[in-house]
Amino acid sequence: MFFPFYLDWTWLLLIPALIVTIWAQAKVSSAYKKYSQIPAQSGVTGREFAQSMLRQNGVDGVAVQPVAGDMTDHFDPRNNTVNLSEGVYAKHSIAAVSIAAHECGHVLQKYKKYGPMRVRNAIVPVVNFATRLAFPLILIGILFSARVPGLEILVSIGAWVYFAVVIFQLITLPVEFNASKRAMANISASGVLTVQEQTEAKRMLSAAAMTYVAAMLASFLSFLRLFLLSRRR
Ligand SMILES: [Zn+2]
Repeated sequence: MFFPFYLDWTWLLLIPALIVTIWAQAKVSSAYKKYSQIPAQSGVTGREFAQSMLRQNGVDGVAVQPVAGDMTDHFDPRNNTVNLSEGVYAKHSIAAVSIAAHECGHVLQKYKKYGPMRVRNAIVPVVNFATRLAFPLILIGILFSARVPGLEILVSIGAWVYFAVVIFQLITLPVEFNASKRAMANISASGVLTVQEQTEAKRMLSAAAMTYVAAMLASFLSFLRLFLLSRRR
């Protein structure tokens, strides 16, 4: 986001945004590193737990498959696949079980028609479009408003288009927290982790959730900066 607004103090708002993002990333990385090295006593792998959790909840037709990389785990609602990373799929650590359960939490959200998940999926195309549109609009507004009077309105429009990103990050929060809540309820009911292990699983999932809180704060600060820029013109 290096546009020629660098002479403006509002770029300072991006510093806390950066700090909170780095802090959350560091927190989730260290939690993952720690809990992926602690084996769960049951010896159940991420794949096995995911499959049994889906079965227990009467979910049919969702494949659990491996995906390359670290922390690349995700549920893809378009083709109904739970994709588990290398450190989760065939491993039986606390991290593996809790992350697999979290992704299945997203599956249950889809099957139980969880409201915030539906809203989130519905606005994805709008948000993708807004992300591409906001900065070009702002840039054109800033670069040409001196020559073409009235073009500064584009800065305001760009700022409000970017607000769609903040809304998206905001609606992501209940979706993520709820997936973890469903994960912990299923872990606890299944007895796959001991009580002590469940506490650790909860810590793992809380650290992961913080990255979404950080992303929301960062997008809000970016919006605030654009809004202040637009007010000044
Ligand atoms: Zn999630």
